[in-house]
Amino acid sequence: MKVSTDAIQILGGYGYMKDYPAEKYMRDAKITQIYEGTNQIQRNIIGLQLIKDMAK
Ligand SMILES: Cc1cc2nc3c(=O)[nH]c(=O)nc-3n(C[C@H](O)[C@H](O)[C@H](O)COP(=O)(O)OP(=O)(O)OC[C@H]3O[C@@H](n4cnc5c(N)ncnc54)[C@H](O)[C@@H]3O)c2cc1C
Repeated sequence: MKVSTDAIQILGGYGYMKDYPAEKYMRDAKITQIYEGTNQIQRNIIGLQLIKDMAK
């Protein structure tokens, strides 16, 4: 996400336009933070597991 966002920042308006691939790279990076469990849900799962492990 950071790399693709930086790429668009560097490319300016061309990075944002659908005519060039950078905007697709950013959307592809973004979706990995949503499907197969959003970042927030993954943090919840990891946090709950850590609490369980510490309680042993
Ligand atoms: C392109 C694409 C492909 C997909 N493919 C599949 C697939 O093949 N199979 C499949 O089963 N599903 C698929 N999905 C669905 C995907 O798993 C869900 O989009 C994902 O689980 C998030 O659920 P949601 O969209 O209902 O968002 P929501 O659950 O409505 O979440 C919205 C926001 O609220 C936050 N949030 C929700 N609950 C909490 C909480 N308890 N604590 C903190 N924050 C919270 C989320 O982190 C997120 O930021 C796909 C989605 C997309 C966009």
